[in-house]
Amino acid sequence: MNEELIAPCGMNCGICSGYLANKYDVKGQGIRMPYCLGCRPRDKKCAFVKKRCDLLLSGKVQYCHECADFPCENLNHLNKRYSSLYRMSMIENLESIRKDGITRFLETEERKWKCPDCGGVISCHNGICFNCGLEILRTKKNLYRWD
Ligand SMILES: [Zn+2]
Repeated sequence: MNEELIAPCGMNCGICSGYLANKYDVKGQGIRMPYCLGCRPRDKKCAFVKKRCDLLLSGKVQYCHECADFPCENLNHLNKRYSSLYRMSMIENLESIRKDGITRFLETEERKWKCPDCGGVISCHNGICFNCGLEILRTKKNLYRWD
């Protein structure tokens, strides 16, 4: 787990299927998924809040919790989707970073998303480990849901 992969909204790009798809080059293994290097590394400012937030776009805040409006409507909307479908909360992540710091947060994330079989990383988007679970991923109907 890597600080550079924690997006301004609190998303951990290290557990995102787009990041893992690229890391494990799943296209070469017959799985069609979009690739992403992570929100900060690809420097698109923010994949979710997009053009709706001047503070993020201008780089005035590093994380959404630094904002007076935290959590804003955009973030609440995103958070609701991730809490119900993807077993994580951006807002809880940011509150944890604010309270205990990024190092503690990264340690917690590592434990939370560790594959019990191989020690790889499980994706929040489908619960599959991209290191040892590509066979399962290949035959999965909806790549963006947990079973
Ligand atoms: Zn695994």
